[in-house]
Amino acid sequence: MSHMKLIDRHNRIAKYLRIGVTDRCNLRCRYCMPEEGIDFAHRNDILSYEEIIRISKLFSKLGVEKVRLTGGEPFVRKDIDILLSSLSTLFDKVHITTNATLLSGYIDLLKNINVSGLNISIDSLDRDRFFMITRRDSFDVVMNNILKCIELKIPVKLNMVVMKGVNDMEVIDFVKFGLHHNVEVRFIEAMPFNDDDGNRDVYMSAAEISQLIATTFPSLHKLIADGSSSDKYTIHGRPIVGIIPAYSRSLCGSCDRIRLTPQGEFLTCLYAQSGTNLLTMVRDVNVSDTDIQQAIMDSVLQKKKSGFEEEALINKNAFRSMTTIGG
Ligand code: SAM
Ligand code: SF4
Repeated sequence: MSHMKLIDRHNRIAKYLRIGVTDRCNLRCRYCMPEEGIDFAHRNDILSYEEIIRISKLFSKLGVEKVRLTGGEPFVRKDIDILLSSLSTLFDKVHITTNATLLSGYIDLLKNINVSGLNISIDSLDRDRFFMITRRDSFDVVMNNILKCIELKIPVKLNMVVMKGVNDMEVIDFVKFGLHHNVEVRFIEAMPFNDDDGNRDVYMSAAEISQLIATTFPSLHKLIADGSSSDKYTIHGRPIVGIIPAYSRSLCGSCDRIRLTPQGEFLTCLYAQSGTNLLTMVRDVNVSDTDIQQAIMDSVLQKKKSGFEEEALINKNAFRSMTTIGG
């Protein structure tokens, strides 16, 4: 048991590490990446599994209890089962965020490591619209995998990025899907990821999303904040809806999240544009685990009070693609 904690200057304790294992993906969601992809990192420039494990052990010592694998699409990285198995021995909770296209080969593994949460991103329940948003014809495989996970009682949540005029007409269908299958559905505000990606035109705020749901489900009731990244709501007393104010950033005050990018950058905020480079540290024979631990603690002390303060440090109003940060 670790007694060390990663505390920042605003008394928040970082307990939840999101690990981006790759910036590559087999989908091309419009709000996340252009058709041609981004300038993907070269193999040698991303952390190896050994390096991720070494760094993860330090985070575990520093009090991190929960990790989430994300990306890019985590399951496109080769031998991801090896990493998942190791991480499950280091942390109480291992979660994964995935587009679910490649899940079918990993269901046994997810059961074996007793995965504590699988967040599946799906932005439409309609095949054609799914194709329009992701630019790939993967609706059937994704839906089959979702249903299989639900059937096998793997703890699943669905993530939908809500875009006005694109898929907001499906918000109610998603809530109904959640009620029917008894899974939480989380609605995410679309974040702009660069200057001209168009996400600003389709942006729908958390407040607008909850109003929209309440018109069909007047019993929608907001629960007291529990420190997580979403506001949670019940419908008919059931905890079915989450809304993630990714852009309006109303939950920064209780943020317990830190991030490790595929390229080994340690970020203390989704809105941070740069962080501490742990890749160069783990590859330098003169750098010890104690040095890395110190660098992590120093970074956490620099964590700003909110995502707005981080954003203010950026020169232009442009964000990196979520595929390089992991969302
Ligand atoms: N490929 C996996 C997936 O899609 O679940 C994991 C990585 S993806 C970057 C993580 C989450 O970020 C997904 O739920 C995705 O919908 C969300 N995301 C990506 N770009 C976003 C944006 N511009 N605004 C809001 N959410 C975004
Ligand atoms: Fe891939 Fe996830 Fe980005 Fe979609 S949101 S392109 S699935 S990384």
